[in-house]
Amino acid sequence: MLSIPKYEFWFAAGSQHLYGEEALSQVAENSKKIVASLNENGNLPYKIVFKEVLTTADEITKFMKEANYNDNVAGIITWMHTFSPAKNWIRGSQLLQKPLLHFATQYLNYIPYETMDFDYMNLNQSAHGDREYGYINARLNMRNKVIYGHWQDPEVVKQIADWEDVAVAYDESFKTKICRFGDTMRNVAVTEGDKVQAQIQLGWTVDYYPVGDLIDEMDKVKESEIDDEYADLKSRYIMVQGDMDAKAYEDTVRYQLRQYIALKRFLERGGYTAFTSNFEDLHGMKQLEGLSAQLMMRDGYGFAGEGDWKTAGLLRIFKIMTHNKRTAFMEDYTLDLRKGHEAILGSHMLEVDPSIASEKPRVEVHSLDIGGKDDPARLVFSGGEGDAVDVTLADFRDNFEIVTYPVIGHKAEETPHLPVAKQMWTPKPGLKEGATKWIHAGGGHHTVMSFAATEEQVRDLATMYGVNLCDIE
Ligand code: MN
Repeated sequence: MLSIPKYEFWFAAGSQHLYGEEALSQVAENSKKIVASLNENGNLPYKIVFKEVLTTADEITKFMKEANYNDNVAGIITWMHTFSPAKNWIRGSQLLQKPLLHFATQYLNYIPYETMDFDYMNLNQSAHGDREYGYINARLNMRNKVIYGHWQDPEVVKQIADWEDVAVAYDESFKTKICRFGDTMRNVAVTEGDKVQAQIQLGWTVDYYPVGDLIDEMDKVKESEIDDEYADLKSRYIMVQGDMDAKAYEDTVRYQLRQYIALKRFLERGGYTAFTSNFEDLHGMKQLEGLSAQLMMRDGYGFAGEGDWKTAGLLRIFKIMTHNKRTAFMEDYTLDLRKGHEAILGSHMLEVDPSIASEKPRVEVHSLDIGGKDDPARLVFSGGEGDAVDVTLADFRDNFEIVTYPVIGHKAEETPHLPVAKQMWTPKPGLKEGATKWIHAGGGHHTVMSFAATEEQVRDLATMYGVNLCDIE
């Protein structure tokens, strides 16, 4: 299962000594109230910890260095309650290696016309203090997030929660190891990429292993372990034997469970949380990974077919971001181009993630018609409905690029002769316009589709990585 360390975010308020000690202690008090309110009422995925009111360049530099070396800190949140001269922030901000959220808020959400005086104005200067601070972040190219609005506004709080999830995914990105069984599919361009650059910029370690190593691991799996997984499978899904005889069906499913157990063991031992397979490289393997890959994705692992390590890594990052909710490896499969019906039918040969299933998946065994291997078992189901994002990662050598558009998911019609899991969607900009722009941008056919991630999160992730973004709206 997906397990994420207990991260926290550090909160600091910027100020200076111009206004006297009383004002500074009020800044601290108000900051604590805001942090407590966010933690208690915000439904935040990770706790915010109020650290201090920062007033000098030395304090700021020390704060940033401490945030850097504390592994449980996934990012920092700053607020300019008063005016904090931004030259003080230059050194510390330059040293910061974690995501930065500049929270542009004000203690009161109204103007107290009747009571306000110069003390009030000295204390509550975020209207211009946040701009002074914003200038230096822009000048330093901090790639920071700005969230603007009152700290009790549910929309603002939701933005903070979503940003926390992106920041944690970004931090985890630098621990992500992707295991490639086989290379990318022969002659295919879009699944290629610079693995060294991926490690520099995205933090991903991308390693190769021969498929024979996985087969050795499969040979070590005990029948009793498969018995347990078979019982678990039966308890969760509908077993559909079809016109196969009972033993052949069970043996085929058990082979996938053997793969699943071996994959998990192999990846866990090496610290890998994503993997790829390639149907062209299955020497000694009887079935392509179908059900096994689906169960791995269900458990939170990243995966993509045809050796596509970029999409496998991206899926893992999105699973962290969405706490493994309704987020899947997807492929554009076939089109409905009729006016009024415009949609893309997505699927993959086998490997569609059951986290997007809108019905109880069925375990079925059918032919694959390519690859020349035994008929593989797979989960068959219909996908989700509602708002989602579709995202891909391309390598253009000068930089990576995230290509994305928002989509609306629909249920696909029954396809009795195509027994795979399916998801249907229409890009919100329209199929014609959206897909034209996608193709122009060079976005691939392998994507991550998420009903849980937001467009803003996709933009924030691209900003944190410093990759180019083609945001088709
Ligand atoms: Mn594919």
